[in-house]
Amino acid sequence: MSTLEIAATDIATNLASVHQRIEAAARRANREPSEVTLVAVSKTKPFAVIEAALTTGQVDFGENRLEELWQKVETAQEKGLDAIRWHMIGSIQSRKTAQVVGPFALVHSVDRLKIAERLDRDSAAANCVMSILLQVNVSGEESKHGFSAAELKAALPALKQLTNVRIEGLMTMAPFVDNPEETRPVFRAMHQLRAELQELAAQHDFAIGSHLSMGMTNDFEVAIEEGATIVRIGSAIFGER
Ligand SMILES: *Cc1c(COP(=O)(O)O)cnc(C)c1O
Repeated sequence: MSTLEIAATDIATNLASVHQRIEAAARRANREPSEVTLVAVSKTKPFAVIEAALTTGQVDFGENRLEELWQKVETAQEKGLDAIRWHMIGSIQSRKTAQVVGPFALVHSVDRLKIAERLDRDSAAANCVMSILLQVNVSGEESKHGFSAAELKAALPALKQLTNVRIEGLMTMAPFVDNPEETRPVFRAMHQLRAELQELAAQHDFAIGSHLSMGMTNDFEVAIEEGATIVRIGSAIFGER
């Protein structure tokens, strides 16, 4: 856990400013700000920052490590904070998919078919249906996880067979660059890919949701201009990690 501390008032101020920036970006693209969900990424931060954000009405929180996620879920349960919607955003090891089945609003980081299949099997065993996004590596960066566009299209018939995961849409992480404008083609490609996939899926008599989880502290405004429906923001809210 980080030892960096941040005051509750700073978190409230930061959240207000992020909301303003989300609204302005949505308006620039002639979109309704309410079409964009803010996931506050609390990874590595103590539980107190979540409570501070919750006080301002922030209910969606993202974590990238299963152990930390489950600890925070348990703390929230002990404190009776049941309004929180938890998002798993970190990479998932195939032998740990059973731990991804839990009280989570959305699993953003299903980055290959094998993970989707195991999660489906584990969800079936737990008698539940998990909401997931398929993580795409549109930029082709080797360091990034995710399906390529071609892999994703090829995986559709197999994905259609999965009845215990509900595919709500796509997620991506753009390459980190100094000028966020450089990420625009990545987000635009995601928007295009979603349209292609939805059409292809329909031909297979199957549906893929329309969520696009994209945009972080450095690039969320560009992502919203290009159609993001979910942004995942950490440091702009809770400070550096
Ligand atoms: C850490 C993380 C974020 C948030 O990053 P910031 O730059 O702090 O906003 C978003 N998405 C994923 C997948 C992350 O791991």
